[in-house]
Amino acid sequence: MKTNYNIVYNKYNNSTIDVLSINGKDWKTIIKNQNLEFKINLKNTNRKIIKKIIKNIEKITTKIRKKGETNKKITFYIINYNQNNQNHSDFIKAIEVVFIEKVEDRYNYIYDEVCSFLDNEFTNKKLCEFKDNKCGEKLKTSSEVGCCRHYKNKILGPLNLNGKLVICEYLKDKKCSAKCISCKLYTCDYLKNKGIQFKIKNILLLDIFFNPIQKYIIKYSVFTPKEIIIKKLLKKSIKS
Ligand code: SF4
Ligand code: SF4
Repeated sequence: MKTNYNIVYNKYNNSTIDVLSINGKDWKTIIKNQNLEFKINLKNTNRKIIKKIIKNIEKITTKIRKKGETNKKITFYIINYNQNNQNHSDFIKAIEVVFIEKVEDRYNYIYDEVCSFLDNEFTNKKLCEFKDNKCGEKLKTSSEVGCCRHYKNKILGPLNLNGKLVICEYLKDKKCSAKCISCKLYTCDYLKNKGIQFKIKNILLLDIFFNPIQKYIIKYSVFTPKEIIIKKLLKKSIKS
């Protein structure tokens, strides 16, 4: 059964417990309450602090689930929240992830959220600068499909430089039908020279919910459909 929670922005009362201040011996007493109210201050937070907050929220939900008390009322009062701050909205999504019990559902949620973010970045900002079907990087080549090409021998991939360069089989009507997160994260030299690069460590949901092996899978599984990537991630889901 799913544990429910509410989020209240930029308000709190003095009896609210700061999530960051909770330590080992406080848990027993806190969890006894039917109404659980927590304060989270996003002012001056860095990745380390955000990780600690999420870890503590994860502890709260795990303890509640273990006791089977999913009818508790949990409220997070988030102060200094700025809806225009990408880090803040990513943090809210991280709370959502913690409350998704099934690992496969979690991974699907994270995967879809990150793909939407990357799609928006590439589309809205027109990062690849396509003109007459040619992107910035491939302007002087024959490619009219950007970097959606690979060498025919997929086992050797880019190492098989003598192979035949073919259009990726997942490219349908000029769109990726595979929803491949690794391809979406890829930035060529053209983009890097413009200062554009998407690193896993900079994307909160990928950074905090996946271990190093899973991050490797996310980075390097290019030309691969979502279903296969999710399966690979599930196989390596033991926390590092
Ligand atoms: S990532 Fe680079 S090579 Fe790929 S489509 Fe964009 S500009 Fe072209
Ligand atoms: S899997 Fe990668 S290379 Fe193939 S169509 Fe999708 S984005 Fe392009």
